[in-house]
Amino acid sequence: MSARGKVPAIGIDLGTTYSCVAVWHHDRIEIITNDQGNRTTPSCVAFNETERLVGDAAKNQAAYNPTNTIFDVKRLIGRRASDKTVREDIKLWPFRVVAGSDDRPKIVVTYKGEKKEFAAEEISSMVLVKMKSVAETFLGSTVEKVVVTVPAYFNDSQRQSTKDAAKVAGLEVLRMVNEPTAAAIAYALDKRAGIDGKMNVLVFDLGGGTFDVSILTIDDKGVIEVKATGGDTHLGGEDFDNRMVNHFVRQFNRKHKVDISKNVKALGRLRYNCERAKRIISSASQTNIDIDCLCDGIDFSAKLTRAKFDEINMDLFERCIETVRNCLNDANMNKDSIDEVVLVGGSIRIPKVQELLQEFFNGKSLCQRINPDEAVANGAGVLAAKLSDMGDEAVKGLTLIDVTPLSLGVGCEGDVMEVLIPRNSPIPTKKEMYLDTAYDNQTFMNIPVYQGERSISSENYFLGELNLYGLPSAPRGEVEINICYQIDANGILNVSARELTTGINKAIKITNNGSLSALEIQKMIEDAERYKFEDEAHVEKVTAHRALETYACKLRTNIKDYKVRLRLRSSGFSVKDLEDTEYKIEEAIEWLDENLDAESSELEDTKVELFDICSRMELNLVLEN
Ligand code: AMP
Repeated sequence: MSARGKVPAIGIDLGTTYSCVAVWHHDRIEIITNDQGNRTTPSCVAFNETERLVGDAAKNQAAYNPTNTIFDVKRLIGRRASDKTVREDIKLWPFRVVAGSDDRPKIVVTYKGEKKEFAAEEISSMVLVKMKSVAETFLGSTVEKVVVTVPAYFNDSQRQSTKDAAKVAGLEVLRMVNEPTAAAIAYALDKRAGIDGKMNVLVFDLGGGTFDVSILTIDDKGVIEVKATGGDTHLGGEDFDNRMVNHFVRQFNRKHKVDISKNVKALGRLRYNCERAKRIISSASQTNIDIDCLCDGIDFSAKLTRAKFDEINMDLFERCIETVRNCLNDANMNKDSIDEVVLVGGSIRIPKVQELLQEFFNGKSLCQRINPDEAVANGAGVLAAKLSDMGDEAVKGLTLIDVTPLSLGVGCEGDVMEVLIPRNSPIPTKKEMYLDTAYDNQTFMNIPVYQGERSISSENYFLGELNLYGLPSAPRGEVEINICYQIDANGILNVSARELTTGINKAIKITNNGSLSALEIQKMIEDAERYKFEDEAHVEKVTAHRALETYACKLRTNIKDYKVRLRLRSSGFSVKDLEDTEYKIEEAIEWLDENLDAESSELEDTKVELFDICSRMELNLVLEN
């Protein structure tokens, strides 16, 4: 609890590869360390025969449980199973993804010996629950409110699904904020005294799975105004890793005539080692990758130079620079007007990326004063404090003006996209348009909603549709429909339509076909509760098992003690009695070793037996949980 007795809201950076949580605490923003002492937590969930693991524990067992260890779920959220990028990703993931109802991707795992299917929102909610519990342990109180970050370039469906994930995690979303905007908040607060008038900042955010560029103005009164944003929700460290994996798969095939491209375990190990090598060559010029028995008993050994890494990824790096160029155009600015280029995200450590960016800005030095792994969570935490009326004067004085990343419109006759809200419009916003009937006695109208920059509707992202039934019969053009697009501060769209001419109002909310229904969310919340209960029961069982094992070992040590044996002998225990007792204890320890998954009732039997020995021997041992 804070000084004023309020439970603080937290900020969560829900990343593709890592997540991070921050909170305003003792008059400053605090990045919270997890149970392993790490400031970031892998966005990874694993299922096995006995339990569900989230975070470091899940990542640590990935190599031997690849098909049930789920990562990269941010690349699935709010997308359709038939999306090109999803189909491409599925080929590289060791876990199985199938198309569920409405073309929604479902992740298939084996959990406690049973096949289970999870939506991306459910897996994300498990990561969010983990981050929530990291914060709760730190604060010593429950947390209910959150600011969650999303890539600036996430479309409506991806945003809506992220919000659904938070709901399933039992969190009330105070605001969803764009990742580069959150980083700009962190930057603005860090630099608060050093801003003279107004400055133009470009945030270059290259993470594990997504890439965002935002151009913002920050002034000395705490106003942060986004001018333009650009990016790619499928470009980041994972793609550089994939390029390396593909390169070495080909090399292995050439050298050993063995194709490992379908071997899930081998690919998983190769990917893990490639990622490590990538990090090393950010500071060294070359490194070796050595993996014992990668496939068919063949060891893998290869050299990776920074030059080779740059070569196989150069087109991706150049795509980042091209995005910067486009974003400047959108903001109507030239590169000389940018006062500071702020680097955010783990992948900005790649020297070639920094070199290309610096070259583009004519040698300007790049700002690395804020922690690239924590800046987004930091900003989210600050915003959470502001929205829950906490924080210092600087926090309270912050004003945010963000934009929508992609144009929103209606699919009209001839597959033409009629834009209602152009990209980079400040949000929240509301725009209206009028449509009339196209033929006599038209009683039904379909209004498809698209997001994207192409003038051909079907080339854009189809968000959903409004179907208006029961329009009054009238000659063509006489029935008029008002369509209203509204984007809230979270960047989420609501569409409604009203039939005006006869005074009958029909307001219909768009049902985004990518997002979940209230019923589905409710079911997921119930499932999440059940999993939480199962996890807690499992932890309880493991703790009881461990305590009993410790107790049995202590009992064994005591009975072996010379003085105890003397006392027991003098109080009538024969040598055989002692041997029998030792045998029983040994048996109990062996049973515990072999039955790690023993049920509570079985543990209870062993406990009674050991307690009995303890009291017969008049030993003073306690069972410590
Ligand atoms: P983020 O999503 O911001 O947590 O970034 C995670 C990504 O940063 C992962 O793909 C990491 O492999 C990558 N990364 C972290 N450190 C380095 C480094 N030293 N060099 C290159 N990439 C890195």
